[in-house]
Amino acid sequence: MSPKPKILIVDDNVSNILVIEELLGDLDVELIRAKSGLEAIEKAKQQEFALILMDVQMPGMDGFETVEIIRQDEKTLLLPIIYITAIYNENYYRTKGIKTGAVDFITKPIIPDLFIGKVTLFVNLYKQRMILEQEVQKRKEAEEEMKLARDLARQAAQSKQLFLSTMSHEIRTPLNAIVNTAKLLKEENPRDDQIEDIEILEFSAENLLHLINDILDFSKIDAGKIEFEAIEFEIRKLMNGIHQSFDYHATSKEITLEFTVAQDVPAVIVGDSARLSQILINIVGNAIKFTEKGKVLVEAAFLAKRGNIVDLVLRVSDSGIGIPEDKIQFVFESFTQASSSTTRKYGGTGLGLAITKKLVEMQGGSIEVKSREGEGSIFSVTLPFVLSEKDHLDEDMLMKATFQSLAGLRVLVVEDNLVNQKIVSKFLMKWNVNVDVAENGKIAVEKARRSRYDLVLMDLHMPEMNGYDATLEIRKMENNPNKDIPIIALTASAFIEDREKIYTYGMSGYIIKPFNPSELYWKIAPFIKK
Ligand code: ADP
Repeated sequence: MSPKPKILIVDDNVSNILVIEELLGDLDVELIRAKSGLEAIEKAKQQEFALILMDVQMPGMDGFETVEIIRQDEKTLLLPIIYITAIYNENYYRTKGIKTGAVDFITKPIIPDLFIGKVTLFVNLYKQRMILEQEVQKRKEAEEEMKLARDLARQAAQSKQLFLSTMSHEIRTPLNAIVNTAKLLKEENPRDDQIEDIEILEFSAENLLHLINDILDFSKIDAGKIEFEAIEFEIRKLMNGIHQSFDYHATSKEITLEFTVAQDVPAVIVGDSARLSQILINIVGNAIKFTEKGKVLVEAAFLAKRGNIVDLVLRVSDSGIGIPEDKIQFVFESFTQASSSTTRKYGGTGLGLAITKKLVEMQGGSIEVKSREGEGSIFSVTLPFVLSEKDHLDEDMLMKATFQSLAGLRVLVVEDNLVNQKIVSKFLMKWNVNVDVAENGKIAVEKARRSRYDLVLMDLHMPEMNGYDATLEIRKMENNPNKDIPIIALTASAFIEDREKIYTYGMSGYIIKPFNPSELYWKIAPFIKK
């Protein structure tokens, strides 16, 4: 409960005060007396009043002077005052500061009802103001709390990003080593009995990598840090590629995998082909995973055209286990699987569809699922693309490079991790590249001063001097042919900021670790000058 409103009664005559006190006896207020102007000023400074009842004629300082002084204080500038005066006197209008606060007057002899009514009105106004002030205060406090919570959330998100970026580096680097060592082992004529073990090694490491990528992807999407590319591509080729990559897996499970693209689907469209692949791979991968035998059908169809935008539907139907009715609404949620036995039987994280849905929606599309337990599921994705005027694409630069040899290319590999050094060098040497190795940025800069290279593969995190600084140093070299050579960053970070940083430091591109050999090849090939 807030304290009672206080009223200050100022009068040099105690019997007048007593009369007023008597009249206001029934109000729920606290009455305070002041017997002179000075005493009133003093009390107004110390306490908060709802109202002052001010006698005008007083010896020494009269009521007007008293109010003038009270009004000088910021705190009491707006304090309502009622003058009580024997004669009607307009003098108070001339008093400085009077206009600011609420002012009223009552002539003596006081008419009780009128007097009580006026005082009650002011007291009620005061009470309402107090309630409002409390509300404002509460709101301020709530805003403060919200701001604090927002700041905390932002900080948490930042440290999460940092943590993920560091972890991805730490985890991807050794994974890079495992995946690529397995690949190397496979290529080095292993005994028949070793092949299976090597394949298990490769498969498990790749799975782990997949999981890490999923988690990173999800957190990137979560933080709104994802950008979509707009590049021309041929959807039939893209579907074909996905068909081929799943074909073996499907056949090994007695599944007929069929891909069809309707005739009215344009040949060339503009969009993010990598993300479209990711979306399709997730859904087709699930369809095959959750189907023991039967059929998986992937269809692309034309839905509508709006100006130069074309809406396509990608439908994946399977004859698999289906999704129970009460679980279907949850499949797009993160870390959700239709049944708890799913992980045991089929693996997976429950992140795939959550990522897929976000990727679809962020591009202005939609995804839905129809399913019947025991009969199969149909996932439909609707996505907008921009139409291209072309009806086919030329074999691009990269394809032409297929026929180029890397033989004789001089590449400097800058990498502090011994295993990674070995792996990168081994692959490069297979392609007859002349490889030189530097353990850190500093050594790389020295080497670049002395010898001529065609390309540098630059790790970013290294002792002594990191990859960014080493690149800056190389770019600064006067009269040195290495000054402008392609420098490709080897990064374990999947974050856009890190990639942008790579370009601002003058690097020509990046390869995300762990890379597969063909990726390494494709990243290097465009830089070969013939
Ligand atoms: P997971 O990594 O477990 O596959 P997803 O997010 O891709 O995660 O899928 C979530 C869950 O939805 C799966 O665990 C499975 O229970 C169910 N699901 C997805 N696709 C299918 C499908 N084609 N048939 C049956 N169930 C499916």
